[in-house]
Amino acid sequence: MQPEAPPLAIAAAVDFGGTKLAIGFVDEAGRVLASTRFATPDGGPAEVARAAADELATIAARLGLDLLSLAGVGATVPGLADTENGVLRFAPTQGWRDVPFAQMLSDAVGLPAFIANDVNACALAEQRFGVAKGCANFLWVTVSTGIGGALVLNGRLFEGPRALAGEIGHMAVAIPGPPCGCGRDGCLQAVASGTAILKAAIKSGLEVSSGRDVFDKALAGDTRAVEIVDSVHVHIGRALSHAANLLDLDMIVIGGGVAESLDTRRLQREVLAHAITLPEHAPPVLRTTLRAEAALIGAGLLVFSKQRREAI
Ligand SMILES: [Zn+2]
Repeated sequence: MQPEAPPLAIAAAVDFGGTKLAIGFVDEAGRVLASTRFATPDGGPAEVARAAADELATIAARLGLDLLSLAGVGATVPGLADTENGVLRFAPTQGWRDVPFAQMLSDAVGLPAFIANDVNACALAEQRFGVAKGCANFLWVTVSTGIGGALVLNGRLFEGPRALAGEIGHMAVAIPGPPCGCGRDGCLQAVASGTAILKAAIKSGLEVSSGRDVFDKALAGDTRAVEIVDSVHVHIGRALSHAANLLDLDMIVIGGGVAESLDTRRLQREVLAHAITLPEHAPPVLRTTLRAEAALIGAGLLVFSKQRREAI
């Protein structure tokens, strides 16, 4: 008789986004056991931590899980994270600075808590369980309401000494160009994010309420929408080629709400057109296989990594 395999460890996971809060449980194999998603509550970080804790307790009861027997809770945060000390250094959307979010979450849930930047968490999840499984050198790009990036180099997350590495959304790609939320002009985020796409569409007279609508109208042949969608692919593709030329990447992975509508073949063509390598060496541009759950899985991974005392 085969000895029974020990049960897989389970972690509580929180994906704290600028507009949405996703809560769930993730096992060591990267499976999301149950999750829910709702609008990020108004109020301060303590309200967010409390809402997450309440929802975790509800889902745990439904799954028959003893919440307090788990090893911990991992959370992604929408900003600059000091993972070592569990401090959210700066959240641009909320305007929060130096929030001890790990401690707040730990107090609310009753478990040890760990935090990481949301984009970095996606890259870690992708490297462990997704299309970049085992890949040592790749760039993850989130194309959503904003645009963010995370770098894995030589098998490790590379954040840079000030945790500013991978900020592809603020690469200046259109000069002169529209203003960006960072205070500069012509950033990739200002011309190709969901927010930028919607702004450009409304300016051109299209009746749309989301970035997705613009892609749908382009597919239907509306020339104004086609022009915007073309420009989005050109600008993102060029930014990816700059990254490829700078870093000699094995792969580029895109994720996020807007990325679902992007055509990876068109991005690939831009990379091939501008990358300095031979076509057969140019990094493939691939869509995440973890889809919208990449960040939640990454949040769970934080707990398992801390348990094994791995650096993240
Ligand atoms: Zn910017």
